[in-house]
Amino acid sequence: MNSKTKFICGVTSALFTAAMFTAPAMAKPNPNQSAWENANPNAKFLRCGTEDLTESQMQAAEDQFRKFSALKGKPTKPGGGNGGGGGDGGGDPVVRPAGSVSIDVYFHVIRDDNGNGGNTQGEVDAQMQVIENAYSGGSGGVPTPFTFNLVETTYTNNSAWYSASQGSAAEQQMKTALRVGGPETLNIYSYNVGGGLLGWATFPSSYASNPDYDGVVILNSSVPGGTSAPYNEGDTGTHEVGHWLGLYHTFQGGCNGGGDQVSDTAAERSPAYGCPVGRDTCRKGGEPDPIYNFMDYTDDSCMFKFTPGQAARADLQSFTYRE
Ligand SMILES: [Zn+2]
Repeated sequence: MNSKTKFICGVTSALFTAAMFTAPAMAKPNPNQSAWENANPNAKFLRCGTEDLTESQMQAAEDQFRKFSALKGKPTKPGGGNGGGGGDGGGDPVVRPAGSVSIDVYFHVIRDDNGNGGNTQGEVDAQMQVIENAYSGGSGGVPTPFTFNLVETTYTNNSAWYSASQGSAAEQQMKTALRVGGPETLNIYSYNVGGGLLGWATFPSSYASNPDYDGVVILNSSVPGGTSAPYNEGDTGTHEVGHWLGLYHTFQGGCNGGGDQVSDTAAERSPAYGCPVGRDTCRKGGEPDPIYNFMDYTDDSCMFKFTPGQAARADLQSFTYRE
């Protein structure tokens, strides 16, 4: 595993190849970091492929979100009214009732030309169960409005697609050929993702500019019982679906600015790896880093929850861009 360190999602592939297989520098252990962080000083900021926005990109994205959201209005609870919510000035939007938003899912298993390497239907079902459990609050977080309906699992033999890197022509071809549905339909692609990545996803706001590209990619061995320990309990799928619903990383923006645009996830200077209990990188005297959150980079065994603020953001992002 040492030479094949996995990262949950990917940023730009050039960065990965440069840093990923670099031998860890021998340095004094930092007591504020986990053993994993200390052992992988070059890898710690490269684990996820979903784009981390710059502060100005973030502002532009959030300005657009506010504008589109105002045009669209807020989701209402059955029977009318905008109950709940409450707010922090920006107004946490109403969160529709737990399980009231059913998302159709198409799960695309890619295998090599000889039919090797793909997930089994049992693995697909187990992955979907982990996602369902996470978003229903069954793993210990807040229940969200989302529930997932696996409509179909497709199987495709194509070696080029089986190793398609993020942003490659092969990835676009694969998605263009296989994607089903509109912005409301979740397409998950599972294969031997390269570059040491565990996966990546597109944001809801990206759908309009490239509908075919929309969806979630996961490493086939990150599914429950896969070989990518400690990232083999299916939480890569949960994390990437979080992006697909509009959630940022908990460390987005570091200690300053709007962070991840969610008020109830403590600011975090950098991704957390392993399960560094008590880690507090912004030292603002509040809560320690949100290491148990699905949108951090900790081990699957460590992350188990979304917050009410994340549920609210995902609800309004999804309602604004995907319905
Ligand atoms: Zn991510």
